[in-house]
Parts: sequence; structure tokens; C-alpha cells
Amino acid sequence: MDILKAPRVTLIARPEFLEPAHLPVQWKGPASAGERLAEFAGRICYMSQANPAGRSTAEYLGNILQQGHGSVFEHAVYVLLIEGISRSCSHELVRHRAGFGYSQLSQRYVDESQAAFVMPPAILGDLTLEAEWTRQMEAAQGAYVQAVGRLMEKYSWVEDRVHRRKMAREAARSVLPNATEVKIVVSANIRAWRTMLELRLGEGAELEIRRMALSCLTVLKAEAAAFFADFEVYPTVDGSEAGRVGFHKV
Ligand SMILES: Cc1cc2nc3c(=O)[nH]c(=O)nc-3n(C[C@H](O)[C@H](O)[C@H](O)COP(=O)(O)OP(=O)(O)OC[C@H]3O[C@@H](n4cnc5c(N)ncnc54)[C@H](O)[C@@H]3O)c2cc1C
Repeated sequence: MDILKAPRVTLIARPEFLEPAHLPVQWKGPASAGERLAEFAGRICYMSQANPAGRSTAEYLGNILQQGHGSVFEHAVYVLLIEGISRSCSHELVRHRAGFGYSQLSQRYVDESQAAFVMPPAILGDLTLEAEWTRQMEAAQGAYVQAVGRLMEKYSWVEDRVHRRKMAREAARSVLPNATEVKIVVSANIRAWRTMLELRLGEGAELEIRRMALSCLTVLKAEAAAFFADFEVYPTVDGSEAGRVGFHKV
């Protein structure tokens, strides 16, 4: 049985910016395509392609952040593959609706007899709790395997094997714990990513989704730092990490 102790976040898609030849911007400084796309969109509002203030892309986007002109950030969409998070964590994640798209592993179709389980950060490092939790996961996995077997017998009259398996798995999954690992593809524009990250990096957020949000922030910041320049990550009194933003946008 695989026990996962951290999320795995992979960037799988980024914006491509095709600058129109008839409206060239006087760019300053290095920037990713997504950052330039947002700057281009912002400059259309005032037709300031000549860059009269001589701002670099990072400075320009910093000013947009300060002004709270969030709609400019809706043009840049980034797609992350998130693995190694629990079903309860993904359930919290998918509550974020505006600007988000999701595709999540289906427990009706996928055989979960070899599923991995995600150990909650609160249990990590406490050997007694870890051992007890591991026993509980093993028992749940055993119950799932047994339930699938019995339900396959019960539905043996269903001729379509794929449909029969789906009928068995969709009922048997009810005994799987919240800790069961999911894989999910998450698309969101930068305005939406910022909103979700602000909420889920906060000290009030549940520890696992906060850990996931920190990983997402690391990946997105490595890709397009100017969008997240005001995010600050800091250590908390309980030994974990949290984050806050300089410019909150409602
Ligand atoms: C610490 C924490 C604890 C939580 N505890 C609970 C809990 O106990 N129970 C629970 O059910 N949920 C809980 N949640 C989830 C929370 O209620 C939200 O569903 C989640 O944070 C997504 O926020 P949102 O709706 O602002 O995001 P999004 O859906 O992404 O929306 C972003 C913004 O778009 C606007 N918007 C989106 N949809 C609409 C709409 N239909 N009408 C008008 N404006 C809209 C709003 O301004 C909104 O803030 C918790 C969240 C956090 C961070």
C-alpha cells in the first residue's frame, strides 16, 4: 500500500502570446508569455503600447496588482496536474468555481484496490498515530476489495463487463476513506489562482490544502513570478508554513 506524504504539482500548460504586429509594445525586462499577455491586455485599455513610464513587465504588473485591476489577469490561464492529494483536499479545492476548470479521477471507473492514501500533515511524524492510521487504511482497502468482489457476483447477470465493474466500483467506493489519493487537472486564470491561493494559504485553511497551495504557488511563481510578487510565505507557530498577500482583491 502506497502512503503519500506530499503533493506532486506539475505545470502542464501555459499561455502562448502571439503579439500582433500592428500593435507592438515597447517591452522592458524579461518576462514569460503569460505575463506579456496580461501586460498587453492592460495596455490596450489606455493604448499605452509605447510604454511612456518606461516600466518593465514586472513593474507594470506590480502596479496592476496594487490598483486591484484583476480582470487583466483573467487572460493568462495555467493548467496544473495535482497528484498526491486526498479526496477531502480535492473536495475543498473544487469549491473554487469562478475561472476554474477541473477533471478528476473517477472512482466509478478506476479500480481503487491499489489506491494510494495521503497521510494528513497532522499525523506525519507521530509514530503511534502513523501506525494506527496505516492500519485503518489497510482495513478500508481490504473492505473495498471485498465489496467489489461481492458486488461483481451480485451483478453477474449484467452482460457488459465494463458496466458491471462500474456498478460494483461505484458502490464499493463508499467504504474508501477521505484519505484516498486523487489526481486532478486544474485549469485557472491568474485572477482565480490568486483568489484560491490567498484563501488556502491562510492560517485558517486546513493543513493539507495549505500544503497543496504552497506547492501550487511554488510552481506558478517559478513560471510567472510577477503575478505573485506580493505573496509572502512565512513559518507558523505550529512549525508549518502559511502565506499572505500584499494586495487583497475582493
Ligand atoms: C478556511 C476555510 C474554511 C471553509 N469552511 C467551509 C465550510 O465549513 N463549509 C463549506 O461549505 N465551505 C467552506 N469553505 C469553502 C468556502 O465557503 C468557499 O466555497 C470556497 O472558499 C470558495 O470560495 P469562493 O466561493 O469565494 O470561490 P469562487 O467560487 O472561486 O468565487 C470567487 C469569487 O467570485 C465571486 N462569485 C463566485 N460565484 C458567485 C456567485 N454565484 N454569485 C456571486 N458572486 C460569485 C465571489 O466574489 C467569489 O468570492 C471554507 C473555505 C475556507 C478558505
